[in-house]
Amino acid sequence: MKELNPNFNLNIQADVIIVGTGVSGLYAALNLPRNLKIVMISKSDLESSDSFLAQGGICVLKNDADYDSYFEDTMRAGHYENNKDSVDIMIRSSQDIIHDLIGYGVDFERDEHGALAFTREGAHSTPRILYHEDVTGKEITSHLLAHVKELPNVTILEQLTMLDILEEDNTCYGIVCRSNKEPSSILTISAEYTIWACGGIGGLYDHSTNFPHLTGDALAISLRHQIKLQNIDYIQIHPTTLYSNKPGRRFLISESVRGEGALLLNKNKERFVDELLPRDVVANAIHKQMKEDNAPFVWLSFAPIPKEDIIHHFPNIYKHCLEEGYDVTKEPIPVVPAQHYFMGGVDVNRYSQTSMECLYAVGETSCNGVHGKNRLASNSLLESLVFAKRAAKDIVKKITNNSEQYSLLMNCNSSENAIDCMKATSSKAVVKKLIQAMDISQYENYEQWNVTNKTMIRNEIERMRKEHEQHNKKIECR
Ligand SMILES: Cc1cc2nc3c(=O)[nH]c(=O)nc-3n(C[C@H](O)[C@H](O)[C@H](O)COP(=O)(O)OP(=O)(O)OC[C@H]3O[C@@H](n4cnc5c(N)ncnc54)[C@H](O)[C@@H]3O)c2cc1C
Repeated sequence: MKELNPNFNLNIQADVIIVGTGVSGLYAALNLPRNLKIVMISKSDLESSDSFLAQGGICVLKNDADYDSYFEDTMRAGHYENNKDSVDIMIRSSQDIIHDLIGYGVDFERDEHGALAFTREGAHSTPRILYHEDVTGKEITSHLLAHVKELPNVTILEQLTMLDILEEDNTCYGIVCRSNKEPSSILTISAEYTIWACGGIGGLYDHSTNFPHLTGDALAISLRHQIKLQNIDYIQIHPTTLYSNKPGRRFLISESVRGEGALLLNKNKERFVDELLPRDVVANAIHKQMKEDNAPFVWLSFAPIPKEDIIHHFPNIYKHCLEEGYDVTKEPIPVVPAQHYFMGGVDVNRYSQTSMECLYAVGETSCNGVHGKNRLASNSLLESLVFAKRAAKDIVKKITNNSEQYSLLMNCNSSENAIDCMKATSSKAVVKKLIQAMDISQYENYEQWNVTNKTMIRNEIERMRKEHEQHNKKIECR
């Protein structure tokens, strides 16, 4: 400790630092070996991640015969801009992931014979979504969290915000963060590998279904350190959130409600769209209808769904709407589109590695191209889990390779190996140098840091949007 910059209260050393405690961060931790020292941080408390909010469910490949249809549904929803390799990996890994989740104690709905029950959501040509009432995310995430809490090699720190990374020569050596508890302080966490699992960008919007503290911090840090981003203008608007003129997070009315038969109605209580079209198409139709009706919402009627099915399958939605003064078993509810999901993000390869050495990104923060321009409903929990596991496995592979190289080196005098050895042993020295050279005054004004981040991200979203527009125009001209 005495070697550190005295302005820093603390430097924590870890093998792996995971930023974020949603499904992607938790599952990465569970897939790393028990002999690694892992530190996880969360900007808020452990229950305040979007993973806890997921209602509808999680997709799975039902059987081999479902492959082509699942692949096509994902591609069609994504406007065929998806990375086919990522889609293939996600679909082929899905059964293993579900098997794992059940092993962790996750309880999915089952039919009268005890087999897994499937529901359907918009743009799926067949029911292939597993669910637990309408709180699937809470069911999955709370089980993963309980298992991570039991791991002796994992330390979880709440109320810590990552502000920056420790970086030299395009290699990440850990993070700089700020304690949100008063009096706040700045600390560093150095690590051989860093995993960003920081979720989406809903906090940048006035109307979003996301937690407001999810402000795309990893994107701003990427822009500062020239880490490659991809498609950050691909932002999904969910067609149906409960209309409210109160500030704060918008309450989602899951797509599976429409999958089970609920209807969208205009001000004259007439249908105006096929409710099961992809999300972006339905959201656009609602916006158009709101304009025509000169109204701040359209109506969603649960009338086609039997009352007992509503209460059994959607207890949370039923209860929340009652609290807001609407009995969905008796009357339609007002709904409006809101920002919901982020298809773009920090560019990663098929092993979730970013363009920076030793830095991985998983879950909604990352972009491996699986969702293309628009996510197919219930693919995101699955994608988060599949690619978090791949990040963990890749880190294990690299650590194994490095230690093999290291032990080889100890017994060999070849100059090539000597370079690798020097690299391995120099990382501690680099961290020390980076911390000592750091100007912490740049992190002191947190409000300003937030404002600057938001502006940088919005500008970059706009720049990428224009770039896509130009590109599409060129294609149209050809
Ligand atoms: C209302 C709602 C319903 C949904 N329903 C479904 C569904 O039915 N099916 C489906 O597949 N998907 C659904 N989704 C999407 C899905 O829940 C998310 O995409 C997924 O859970 C993202 O997981 P994650 O681990 O990437 O991020 P999150 O679960 O959002 O976790 C992000 C974590 O990062 C931390 N963090 C962020 N920034 C920082 C920082 N600077 N420093 C430290 N920590 C930081 C946060 O505190 C949090 O712990 C839904 C989303 C919402 C909002």
